[in-house]
Amino acid sequence: MPQQADTVVTRFPPSPTGALHLGGARTALFNWLYARHTGGRFVLRIEDTDTARSTRESVDVIFDALRWLGIDWDDGPYFQSQRMDIYRTYIEKLLDSGNAYYCTCSSERLEIMRKEAMARGGKPKYDGTCRDLGLSAAEGAVVRFRAPLTGATVLRDVVKGSIAFQNAELDDFIIARSDGSPTYNFCVVVDDLTMGINTIIRGDDHVMNTPKQMLLYRALGFDPPTYAHVPMVLGEDRARLSKRHGARSVTAYREMGFLPEALINYLVRLGWSHGDQEFFTVEELIEKFSLEHIGKSAGIFDPEKLLALNQEHMRLKPVPALAEMLVPFLREKGMAADAGETLERAVETLLPRTKTLEEMAEAGRFYFEETVQYEEKAVKKFFKPNAAEPLRILREKLEGLEAFDEASLEAAFQEVMGETGLKLGKIAQPVRVALTGKTASPGIFEVVSIIGKKKVLQRLDAAIEFLQQS
Ligand code: GLU
Repeated sequence: MPQQADTVVTRFPPSPTGALHLGGARTALFNWLYARHTGGRFVLRIEDTDTARSTRESVDVIFDALRWLGIDWDDGPYFQSQRMDIYRTYIEKLLDSGNAYYCTCSSERLEIMRKEAMARGGKPKYDGTCRDLGLSAAEGAVVRFRAPLTGATVLRDVVKGSIAFQNAELDDFIIARSDGSPTYNFCVVVDDLTMGINTIIRGDDHVMNTPKQMLLYRALGFDPPTYAHVPMVLGEDRARLSKRHGARSVTAYREMGFLPEALINYLVRLGWSHGDQEFFTVEELIEKFSLEHIGKSAGIFDPEKLLALNQEHMRLKPVPALAEMLVPFLREKGMAADAGETLERAVETLLPRTKTLEEMAEAGRFYFEETVQYEEKAVKKFFKPNAAEPLRILREKLEGLEAFDEASLEAAFQEVMGETGLKLGKIAQPVRVALTGKTASPGIFEVVSIIGKKKVLQRLDAAIEFLQQS
C-alpha cells in the first residue's frame, strides 16, 4: 500500500490463542491512539501461524473486544496463515542475496550441541557447520539466516533508550523449517515491511526478538522501523498480570459493567501520562497521546482506581445512552425493562450510588422487579406493628392523586404527617421498606414517582398485609 513517507503506520498483531487481555488491549490502544493522533493508519493483523493454539473463536472474541472499545482499523485484518506465498518469496530473496542458507544438520547433532553448550553454562548457538557449504534445497533442510558475526545491533528505543546487542551473541537462526514453514520473527518482519509499518509499539517482552528483526530488515535492504517497547502490566504484587489477579480479559470487564471509555482511560494511564491528569475522554487521548510520555516503569493494575474512573465516566455519559446500556444488564438479571423516560429517571437516581452498570442494575432491582424482597434488617428496624396505620393512610391519599410527580407526592406525605402527628422519617422509612425492601434508597419521593402509582399501591397493600400477619 503506498504511503506518504511521513505518515505514521502502526499495527496490532494479536495471536488468537485466547481472549484479548488487558495488556494486549493497552498495546492496541497505544498503537491506535498514536495513529489517530498523527493522522496515520492503524493495521490489524492476526498472527495465527501457531495452528495448534490459534482458534477462530479467539479471533472473533478479539474482534468483538476491539469493536467494543471503539478501536477501528484502517487496514486488515490480515491473517498470517493466508500469507505463506509472500513469506516464501522473501525467503527466496534472502537465499538469492546470500543472506540465508540451507542447513542439513540433523536434529540429533543440534541437540548434542545444545546440551554441551548448556553444560558449559553458555548459550546454545548454531556452530555454523553449513554456513559456507553452499547447500541447495534438500529433503529435511532448514533455511538459516546468515547473521553477522561481529559488531553490534543497536536498538534505539523510544521508551527504553539505546540497547546494544552484540552480534556475536546472536545465532544463525532458522527462518524456514524443514517443512518450508516460516518462523515467527521472520513472518513479523515480512508483514511489517509489506504492510508499510513504520512504528512498532509493543510489550517489552519482545525486546529480545528485536535485534533479530532489525537484522532481517537490513538484510532485505530496509531500515528498521521506530520501536517503542512498553513495560508490562503487573498485578499489585508486582508479578505479571495473571489469572490469580482476577479478571484479565476485556470481555470480562464489559460483562462486569464497565464502560469502554473508562477502560480505555484506565489502560492508557497505566503506561502513559499527561502531567497529573487522570480523567480523559477518548477525544482528549487522541489529541494528547504521544510516545514521549510512555512510562519507563511497569504499570501496576489497581482495580479500585478503575472502578473510580468508571463511576466518573458513567456520570459524564448522557443519561439516555447510559440507560440504553443498562437494559441488557437488567434483562440478564431477569428484569423486564425498556429504554425510555422511566428508566432514565431511575438511572439518574442510581448514578450517585453505583460504580458499574452491573451494580446499577442490581441496585435498581426494586424499580423493575415484580415483587419486592424485604431485607431482614429493614423489617426489624422499620416494620414495627405501628407502621401499618400511616401506610394505610398514605395508600388512600396516593390512590386519590391525579399526578404522581414529586411535588404532589410531597404534599400527600405532608397530609399524612399532619393527620398522624408523625415526622417524615417515621412514615418514609416503612414506605421505603415497602417499596424497595431496603433501609436505604434514593429519595423517597423520586422512588415513589418512578415506580408509579399502580405498583406503589400494590406494594403498599402487600406491606400492610405483611404487617398485619406479623
Ligand atoms: N503476536 C505477538 C503477541 O501477541 C505480537 C508480536 C509483535 O508485536 O511484534 O505477543
